[in-house]
Amino acid sequence: MSLQLLVDLYLAVSGLLIGSYLNVVIHRLPREQSTVLPRSRCPHCGGVIRAYDNIPLISYLILRGHCRHCRAAISWRYPLIEGLTAICFVLSFEVFGVSWKTPMAILFCCLLIALAGIDAEHYILPDRITLPGAVVGLAIAFVAPWITWQQSALGILLGGGLLWAVAELWVRLRKVEGLGLGDVKMLAMVGAFLGWEGVVVTLFLGSLTGSLVGVTLMLRHRMNLSSRLPFGVFLSLGALIALFAGPWLLGSYGRLF
Ligand SMILES: [Zn+2]
Repeated sequence: MSLQLLVDLYLAVSGLLIGSYLNVVIHRLPREQSTVLPRSRCPHCGGVIRAYDNIPLISYLILRGHCRHCRAAISWRYPLIEGLTAICFVLSFEVFGVSWKTPMAILFCCLLIALAGIDAEHYILPDRITLPGAVVGLAIAFVAPWITWQQSALGILLGGGLLWAVAELWVRLRKVEGLGLGDVKMLAMVGAFLGWEGVVVTLFLGSLTGSLVGVTLMLRHRMNLSSRLPFGVFLSLGALIALFAGPWLLGSYGRLF
């Protein structure tokens, strides 16, 4: 087995385990509960989930998505988050190789996945993730060779400022709050990690995928104009693409002119 494959395998397993922890964060952080103790319980019957039933992906498959005690369905979000985290871990190494950019990318992915999951479940993007996330992104920029602290600070200003302006405009035009301040702070965090170009790519892709899904749901009468979409989910998706393919996307876009 080649060394590269061995590292991929190690990262995939680590990603599954961290993804399993992110599921706990997504479920408990907005409820102000500890993410370490007590042991996980079935939200339906309250039965304690044993270690052998808590193996990422595998337990879900063995139990066929049902609680061992009460047979209540387990949300498909759990294996999805675990699988996605594992993919992001492996992709970080495949794209950035043996460099400090790989652990940075892994950390950034974890923040984005936690935010997407929390927004999907609770319709909030907690300050307890976005604000420390922005600070850590800026701190990394002081020592990282791939981004200067000025680029990171500009990213925070553009991410925070641009979306805040859009939100203000929306409130004045439609007299309703379209974008939450959580979205603004999340985009500031993205800017801290990826700089202003990353903010542009993230906002573009997030709005595009968000409107596509919104229009599709409206056409199928699953929601109306005043229904809420968790925009943070689409911003997360946009930011993941910006992280892994941003420079390539901007390069191809530049070549069009
Ligand atoms: Zn149960």
